[in-house]
Amino acid sequence: MERNRDELVFVPLGGVGEIGMNMGAYGFGPERSRKWIVVDCGVSFAGPDEPGIELIMPDPTFLEENAEDVLGLIVTHSHEDHYGAVLDLWPGFDLPVYATPFTAGMISSKRAADNIIDDVAVTLMRPGQPFQLGPFTIEPISVAHSIPESTGLLITTPIGRILHTGDWKLDATPVGTSPTDVPRLQQIGADTSLPLALICDSTNALKEGESPSESEVARVLEELIAAAPYRVAVTTFASNVGRVISVARAAQKAGRRVVMSGRAMHRVTGIARELGMMEGIEPFLDQDAFKELPRDKVVVVCTGSQGEARAAVSRIARGEHPAIDLNAGDQVIFSSWAIPGNEREVIDIQNMFVDRGIEVITRDDKLVHVTGHPRRGELRQLYSWVKPQVLVPVHGEPVHLLAHAKLGREQGIPQVVEARNGDLVRLFPEPMAFPGEVRTGELYLDGNILCTPDESGVKGRRRLSFGGHIGISLAVGSNGNVLSGPEIAIEGLPEVEDDESLTSVIRKTVSGTLKSIPPKRRADTDVLVAALHKAVRGEVNAYWGRKPNVTVFVHRV
Ligand SMILES: [Zn+2]
Ligand SMILES: [Zn+2]
Repeated sequence: MERNRDELVFVPLGGVGEIGMNMGAYGFGPERSRKWIVVDCGVSFAGPDEPGIELIMPDPTFLEENAEDVLGLIVTHSHEDHYGAVLDLWPGFDLPVYATPFTAGMISSKRAADNIIDDVAVTLMRPGQPFQLGPFTIEPISVAHSIPESTGLLITTPIGRILHTGDWKLDATPVGTSPTDVPRLQQIGADTSLPLALICDSTNALKEGESPSESEVARVLEELIAAAPYRVAVTTFASNVGRVISVARAAQKAGRRVVMSGRAMHRVTGIARELGMMEGIEPFLDQDAFKELPRDKVVVVCTGSQGEARAAVSRIARGEHPAIDLNAGDQVIFSSWAIPGNEREVIDIQNMFVDRGIEVITRDDKLVHVTGHPRRGELRQLYSWVKPQVLVPVHGEPVHLLAHAKLGREQGIPQVVEARNGDLVRLFPEPMAFPGEVRTGELYLDGNILCTPDESGVKGRRRLSFGGHIGISLAVGSNGNVLSGPEIAIEGLPEVEDDESLTSVIRKTVSGTLKSIPPKRRADTDVLVAALHKAVRGEVNAYWGRKPNVTVFVHRV
């Protein structure tokens, strides 16, 4: 890179090579003195490989190192993978967050619900109203997605433009939110004064065709609810306000009242109502109203579409919900899909309903859910409108990014740059990726503590989950004679009744080991600890077929 030349660069810090924890930085200026803006600050959810971890976030070290030149954060929409880490990572920067009114409402209500002390200063932004941050002019553009007020960003600098799509789809008839602003996208393509780089959602780049409209889902829900003989419960993502509106409209048409259950859903629809997004929708009844309503006069809308054990639909399935109970002949609609990793939990809940004679309707049966991301037909449409010189596929696992890159090349986009988290991508001039230029990684939220995977105890927790733990404690006199113990504590190992017990195996091993060491050597604590540790691990391995975690305490008296 030439040192004094202005360059426009993109640094993905999360979400490129994985689905989740989206965060990216755009830099402008000569290499030594660039100004940066940050787009999105999301989380991923931990899986069984990260026991005890609530959330995973991108490592912001790169931004911290450049903090003096960072100008602000722009949040495209309030899905967790885009805004979930704002209140954890951004307060440290003491810089403004730009967000639409709905996203701003979601940030402040999350802060209240989670009792977060740190705060961020939010500046409201609106589609079609550009604002300036240093050398960047940023224009939010309405895009349809599965949450209100999703935005793409047109970022203009003196040497080139960026269209950062955010999560989007083409839906001419979305519910409760604006359609994608196609005329504006066409204008962007018609303007040839500056080259354009497209940083684009790859989630559905493997899927041919176009995603159905939210209005089609609304029609299907309306038919189902109109035809249902008894109660209907619908579970969906709490943030999908459009879907909740569709259910509410269908219920009203069928002369049914809507009972809502789930704190997150009350919270999100409360924000939507305050912002005037629910005109004509009767107030939702709280769950306590359920028992007063006849079986054919109610629709329950509830949380838990991902199988979360404590959420409403799971409690209803187990018959443990404090206010809501379903019977044989009632229906439950899963107006959602199971995010990979949650499938088992969701199927378990569906099985519980089926076992009780309650009908389960999923997206495999009827069009009760649509994706919020563009399929290949929609991607082609976007390319044809905005005519990018450069495409960088983002928001996807490697297979999605690759499919998207191939599609871009097939469609004749001159430069397609395949990037990963931590690369530095020069967009203009001369597009090129410089792999691994920037420190990236993950931070775990472990209880209240934000730490790197190495700092976290997760490795040890995983080890414990396979090997359990044996603690052995004994007191030894100065001449090497055992004065008390051994005390043995066992956690997480098998105890089989008809076999020789594990405890007795450990006891025998300890006493055998002690006997085998001459008293003089026994006086050396380290020798004793090492010998017991090795012997117990070995003998338990012979007995169990697995090596336990062993801690030996020798007290000198
Ligand atoms: Zn999204
Ligand atoms: Zn997303």
